[in-house]
Amino acid sequence: MIYLDNAATTKIEDSAFNAMLPFLKEEYGNASAVYELARRSKKAVFEARKNAASLIGAMPSEIFFTSGGTESDNWALCGAYETFRKKNTGSAGHIITTAIEHHAILHTAQYLESLGVSVTYLKPDSEGFLTAAQVLESIRPDTFLVSVMTANNEIGTIEPVCEIADAVKNVRKDILIHTDAVQAFGQIHLEDLSKHVDLLSASSHKLGGPKGVGILFIKDGVKFSPFMRGGMQESGRRAGTENVAGIAGFGEACKLAYAGIDSKIAEETALRDRLVAKLGNITDVIVNGAYSEGDFSKRLPGNISVCIKGIEGESALIMLDREGICASSGSACATGAMDPSHVLKAIGRADDEAKGSLRLTLSHHNTEEEIDKAAAVIAEIVDKLRNGKKHL
Ligand code: PLP
Repeated sequence: MIYLDNAATTKIEDSAFNAMLPFLKEEYGNASAVYELARRSKKAVFEARKNAASLIGAMPSEIFFTSGGTESDNWALCGAYETFRKKNTGSAGHIITTAIEHHAILHTAQYLESLGVSVTYLKPDSEGFLTAAQVLESIRPDTFLVSVMTANNEIGTIEPVCEIADAVKNVRKDILIHTDAVQAFGQIHLEDLSKHVDLLSASSHKLGGPKGVGILFIKDGVKFSPFMRGGMQESGRRAGTENVAGIAGFGEACKLAYAGIDSKIAEETALRDRLVAKLGNITDVIVNGAYSEGDFSKRLPGNISVCIKGIEGESALIMLDREGICASSGSACATGAMDPSHVLKAIGRADDEAKGSLRLTLSHHNTEEEIDKAAAVIAEIVDKLRNGKKHL
């Protein structure tokens, strides 16, 4: 098998897996209890909190464990709304976000619209970039939240989030700034990010941790409504007995993430460039998003998104699967729905171009041999599909 779908999820790292095991069996104490067995669970949760905090330069007390990126995004938007409504009885308020966010943001924004909130969905440029000027122009007196993703899950574009956050805070300190950092967390350097934003979502399974665990960073001093009500876990802001094993695995993945990160980024970028160059030998292939060889400042190092003229991405995926290659067309969450990706449409791809998209997301675990094999298989598949054949 050749796994090229690391933006959908990643293989769990061995040490993250091993870190979970005790808490699935003998270390079953409830982290809220007072005896030694429970204290060991509590310690594991605290260590994980420290490790997650260190990736974004936050304090452990600013990290709140959730069930993953989707919950964190829902909490960020709904929590900001509730907090705003408690202080304001007039307008239902206004949010600024982007047309290329993950559905965890977009569908929550739509839900808030159904409650009367106005939402501005900023359109990116043709490479997927948003600008601080666009955000500033959209601010209204009743704007209470700006949510711009750190890096896009389909086309890998890295947004100027710090610049946007600083520009907004410069004119309006009361507007909360959230970033969905699910795709960037642990993949690129984000050590300064918590200094700029108020809220940040991340998810364990995108960086070699287990599924079903994530964080919402809430900056110290930010007044923010809880999402889950119940016990006093997570300082009373996110109730529910902690998923200690998941959190321990996530914490270990966080600890590993920055170890040798520069060489991991360099390896992924080199593999990405190798595959892009080989795909460039196929006629009528467009790379989506900002791409320049060797550069990882504007695009996630492991992300490749292409539109290939004359093919259906879904058919290519089925043929790739038969050859043992895992890839995606658009985002994993949209797979199954045949609608062209909202991200590709937002950067100006026509429907038929967008339907011919492939997303190949690499990790430092991939090898040059895998990349060469994948490129050769893709070229063959494109050839067959363009000639009306559905089998290799
Ligand atoms: N946000 C982004 C940008 C994502 O890529 C994803 C997952 O693909 C999510 C949110 C949702 O995260 P989770 O799968 O942990 O719920």
